[in-house]
Formats: sequence, structure tokens, C-alpha cells
Amino acid sequence: MRQTKLFTKTRKEAPADEVSKNAQLLIRAGYISKEMAGVYTFLPLGLRVLKNIEQIIREEMNAIDGQEMILTALQDKEVWEKTGRFSDDVMDVWFKTELNAGGVVGLAPTHEEPITRVMTNHISSYKDLPVYAYQFQTKFRNEVRAKSGIMRGREFLMKDLYSFDADQAGLDAYYEKASDAYKKIFDRTGVGHVTYKTFASGGAFSKYSHEFQTVCEAGEDLIYVHEAKGVAVNKEVLTDEALQDLGITREELVEKKSIEVGNIFKLGTKFSEPLGLMYTDEEGNSKSVVMGCYGIGPSRLMGTIVELLSDEKGIVWPEAVAPFRVHLVILGNSPEVRVAGDLFYEKMKTLGVETLYDDRELRPGEKFADSDLIGIPTRVVISEKTLQAGKLEVKKRTATEAQMMDEEEFLRTL
Ligand code: ATP
Ligand code: MG
Repeated sequence: MRQTKLFTKTRKEAPADEVSKNAQLLIRAGYISKEMAGVYTFLPLGLRVLKNIEQIIREEMNAIDGQEMILTALQDKEVWEKTGRFSDDVMDVWFKTELNAGGVVGLAPTHEEPITRVMTNHISSYKDLPVYAYQFQTKFRNEVRAKSGIMRGREFLMKDLYSFDADQAGLDAYYEKASDAYKKIFDRTGVGHVTYKTFASGGAFSKYSHEFQTVCEAGEDLIYVHEAKGVAVNKEVLTDEALQDLGITREELVEKKSIEVGNIFKLGTKFSEPLGLMYTDEEGNSKSVVMGCYGIGPSRLMGTIVELLSDEKGIVWPEAVAPFRVHLVILGNSPEVRVAGDLFYEKMKTLGVETLYDDRELRPGEKFADSDLIGIPTRVVISEKTLQAGKLEVKKRTATEAQMMDEEEFLRTL
């Protein structure tokens, strides 16, 4: 993409009321735009990153037999009344709205109830099981505090997968697969080295659930990390009993601030029972389907990456999620430089290397500052100087020094 065609502009200052680093940088670089607290528009650059994260998650969900679908944002109160969760006393984050035709609907904060009801139309026999279904969908939550930028939206994207198994053994096996898939997702998106599988409270159907917590100063959570074992427990389960279960002692744990980037939970028959999701087993007995749920916030993950990997100049995207692989910057406005820039840009296109081409008529200082702020992993400069040397000036966003190399050599590094 040519930067002269990109409608978004970078800016020197973020809005005065924006206190989180992720939103400040993402707004300044033109990835997102703030509508109001906890509500953000994804601009073209931001959408590219979000889609890259989404695609990594999608690949890992498909690899564990997930089938993608989309449930609705508008929610029927009847299905939620069956589990008691339409009540604001039970679920305190609801947004609700009146229909002109009479009656009230909710805006989905999560989807256990509606997906369980959908499955009653498709699951009736043991032969129909297991089923694993997921979506990327906008959730609405009336969060009290929305000061963490895109890490805590009142409107935000969630990947939620729901598992439907015939029995506990099926659920237990799938739960481990999902946990492994989550590990791959956080590794691939560049936060794996500081993300801990964290023991959390489990509800009525299992002793523990698990959160995936990324250690980060901007986090709103506290976890207790066992470095050697690479696991953690959260505040709720920091008890003698849990420590004994895990064979660790309080002294071995270090308290850290963290961000919950995902969680996995064994639901058992908590939803299938009240909503009548039953199947007939091989002996003809009627049984409740055994469920699990598995959430990740792609937008929270994007914010987390920015919090973790940025520096004083701007964002530093890992290759796998960056909006473009290469930022091509031409300096000066001589016809030779422009022709060389255009040619190189066309070549990148032909090779399928996603490239942002800074073809704007701006001073070098401004172009470099924007390039650092936007944070594309590799910057390639073409100028009078590089043309004379017959080379390209290549700099990794994470490196301090640029390197001169010829085109062949550069293409090999890709
Ligand atoms: P938290 O404890 O941080 O409020 P939660 O436990 O309510 O989150 P879940 O209901 O388990 O979150 O949602 C699944 C995932 O969705 C979370 O692990 C997180 O990655 C993401 N998520 C939850 N709430 C938000 C939000 N307000 N904005 C962005 N992402 C969110
Ligand atoms: Mg939580």
C-alpha cells in the first residue's frame, strides 16, 4: 500500500483522556480511533493486525476440529432466563435495550446460552458428538472501568469456542488439546515467553479452570508465578490446598502484574441441563451433553503485544502479526529515487511481500519517526545515497544500526 493513499495520519499526541500506553501508541500511529471510553474503531492498519491475530487463532482452532460460525449480538431474554443469567444481579455487565415493538433484548456479553440452544437442534444422539464450534464475534460488556485501552473494551472482539462431548473423559481430553492450542497461539503471536498457564477457580464441575496470563506492568490482575515449573496461580486460588495440589510452596512464588489474554473452563452440564441439551447414548439412555468453553480476546491480545514490545519511539510488531512485513521509505524527491522506489515496490508486490510504501513528500526525520511509531519489522530506505552505492539501507525495527545490502541479499533475508 502506498502511504499517500492511506487515509490515516499519524499524530504527535494521543487524546488527553487516554491513559493506557497501548491506546496512546495505537491512536498516534493511526491503528485505532477512540469513540469513547472502552469503545474503539479499528482503522485500516489496526484491522490488518487484528486480522493477522485472528488468522493465527483460526488456524489453531481448526487444527483441533473447531468449526467456525457466528452467533448473534442481539440476545433473546428467554434463553438467558432459563439459566438465571438475564438478571443484572447475576450478570452485572449487561447492555439491554427496548424493542420498539415491545419487550427487551440484550447485547451479548458471552454466548453459552445461545450456542447451547442452537445445538439442541443438531445434537440428539451419541453419534452427533463430539462437536466443537467457535466464532470471532463482538461482545458487549458494561465494564465499570475502561481505562486499559483495547485491553478492556465495552465493545470488543472475542474468540469463543464451545465444546460438546458425551462424557467427562471426552471433555477432559479436549480441554488438554485446547490448552496446547492456546500455548501455540501465544507463542506464535510473540507473547508466549511471558505467558503462564494459571490455575483459577473452576466452578461446580472441576476444581480448577485455567487462565492464560501475560506478565506485564500494565496488567490489571495479580498472579503468583512458579518460574521453574512455568505455571502460576491467580489470587482466588492462592490457598494452602491449591499449593499442595500443585506440589509448590508459597515461598517459591513471585507476585506479578498480568493480563488475562485467554481462559479455558470446564462447564460440565451447567448449561446443557437447564437448556435441555440432551443426547441418547448407545444403550438408549438420555443424558446431558458435557460442555467446555475457551475464550481469547484478539483485541486484548493486540493491546498486550503493544504494551509488552513497544519502546520510546513507538510500536514494535512481531513479524507474525505486523500490518506489513516491509516499510519501504524513499528519501528526497528526485525522479531517480522515485523510479527506484516504485520499481522496488512493484517487485515486493510480485513476490507477495506485504509492503507499506512511504512515497510521501516529507522530510527524512518525519518519515523515520513515523516508521518507528508504526513499527513494521523491517524498514528499507532508498535514497540518492543508496542508489549511488547500488545498495538498499535495511534496518530491523529492533536493531539500532541500519545495514547496507544489495537487493539479492535483502531478498534472501526475507
Ligand atoms: P476479565 O477477568 O479480565 O474481566 P473475563 O474473565 O471476564 O475477563 P472471559 O469472560 O473469560 O473474560 O472472556 C474471555 C476472554 O475475552 C478473556 O480471557 C479476555 O482475553 C477477553 N476479554 C474479556 N473481557 C474483555 C474486555 N472487556 N475487552 C477485551 N477483551 C476482553
Ligand atoms: Mg477472568
